Amino acid sequence: MVSRVIPVEAFDLVIFGGTGDLARRKILPGLFRRFLSGQMTDDSRIIGAARADLDAAGFRTLVAEAIAEFGGKEAKETAAIAKFLERLDYVSIDATGDGGWTQMHDLMRDGVVRAFYFSVAPSLFGAIAERLHGYNIANDQSRIVVEKPFGRDLETARALNATLAQHFNETQIYRIDHYLGKETVQNLMAVRFGNVLFEPLWNNHYIDHIQITVAETVGVGGRGAYYDKSGAMRDMVQNHLMQLLCLIAMEPPNMFEADAVRDEKLKVIRALQRVDHHHIVRGQYDRDGDKQSYREDAENPRSFTESFIALKCHINNWRWSGVPFYLRTGKKMKSRASEIAVVYKDLGHSIFEGDEARHRNILAIRLQPNEGIDLQVTIKEPGPGGMRLIDVPLDMSFADALGPDAEEVPDAYERLIMDVIRGNQTLFMRGDEVEAAWAWTDPLIRDWERRNDVPKLYDQGSTGPDDALMLMHRDGRRWRDIKG
Ligand code: NAD
Repeated sequence: MVSRVIPVEAFDLVIFGGTGDLARRKILPGLFRRFLSGQMTDDSRIIGAARADLDAAGFRTLVAEAIAEFGGKEAKETAAIAKFLERLDYVSIDATGDGGWTQMHDLMRDGVVRAFYFSVAPSLFGAIAERLHGYNIANDQSRIVVEKPFGRDLETARALNATLAQHFNETQIYRIDHYLGKETVQNLMAVRFGNVLFEPLWNNHYIDHIQITVAETVGVGGRGAYYDKSGAMRDMVQNHLMQLLCLIAMEPPNMFEADAVRDEKLKVIRALQRVDHHHIVRGQYDRDGDKQSYREDAENPRSFTESFIALKCHINNWRWSGVPFYLRTGKKMKSRASEIAVVYKDLGHSIFEGDEARHRNILAIRLQPNEGIDLQVTIKEPGPGGMRLIDVPLDMSFADALGPDAEEVPDAYERLIMDVIRGNQTLFMRGDEVEAAWAWTDPLIRDWERRNDVPKLYDQGSTGPDDALMLMHRDGRRWRDIKG
């Protein structure tokens, strides 16, 4: 029922950082699943490129191990794995030197899509882009995929954009945000723009407020020192939450096409009001028995970096005037759950009395776990007890709607890599979007740095600091429960 798999054109995909964590956990197992589905055909190849001194056989072993560990139930497809491994090659390369580049040039084929995935630290992007051209490896049709973080503020993002622009056109650059590759996120657009039911109500006349929550149960242990230089605002809000907000708030594009969609998203970011610091709550998780605190995980006893942030913002345009958007994200929260909730206003007048008058529609878009869309509607409680009303979900869970096929829904990375090969940039961030997002984020960060704002402590396994609850309580609203 789900997938009519349409094979993509033959490609050569070079993964810089092909031995790294992201490649092993997501990119390579994902490509194997696309191979298994028939979307990646036999005439395509994947070339790992990293510092490690491996040959093709060594890389195949590494990829086989990655599939065994992260490939899910597909890890049992031994015959297909063997065929997939034949599609792999490897070049040991020094991104900042000359080693390996001539060999890579000689490996590339004509007449197939050439794509280069930069799964390495952003500090290497410039050196790699330069060499791809210097050694005649990339051509005008080649595509590059770049990972987050895309800068740490407006200045560094601009510099990164300028570096890439020296060697590639914007139409060749795919800035990946895997949230945009999630099935439900795209479904959000299908629901909004493919149904007559929702769009007429999608404005400040009918919507009371919108909540976006991305809650994680993990802490920063293991990458604490790296995270401490960034924090929840840079790591999550500036990119993932902002992208979700854009898709919820944007005007209908005239067609579902990359620049039309991205133009509308950009207008949302530019219309975001600056947030007053009273509407921002920053937190750090506290020590819990023998579980380390944020500061201990970050190995920085004086850290002021936030592992949690909640904020209230407004979009200055006709559609959203007066509608608050509440955003929150944090580590070591009660459950791992990501959700967008569109909370509708109360009825203008209710014909029901007392408690029965207090019911609201909520459209909840769940990104994880159990991706799906759920519309809370009010109905009469069954039975003879008079007109008692209850709220029940009209639930569209992919697992229920699609049955066993739901498991075949590709993971975000898989889908996005196939989009790169197809040359479809709709679900990738354009350079001006990224810069506009930083232009909104930077003054907020500078403001709390200037004020030496100390994040509030919160309990591990909670919903964040109490002040985050107050952010909504003050407005007579409350956060939805985070259900994992
Ligand atoms: P990693 O440290 O595990 O791997 C880095 C890779 O880069 C290795 O393959 C290494 O050989 C290669 N490399 C490093 N220096 C090199 C050089 N001078 N020349 C050639 N190759 C070199 O990192 P990772 O976790 O895989 O992350 C890669 C990128 O993706 C980073 O920018 C990271 O911020 C981003 N990212 C990672 C994740 C994740 O889940 N791991 C998620 C989102 C974004």
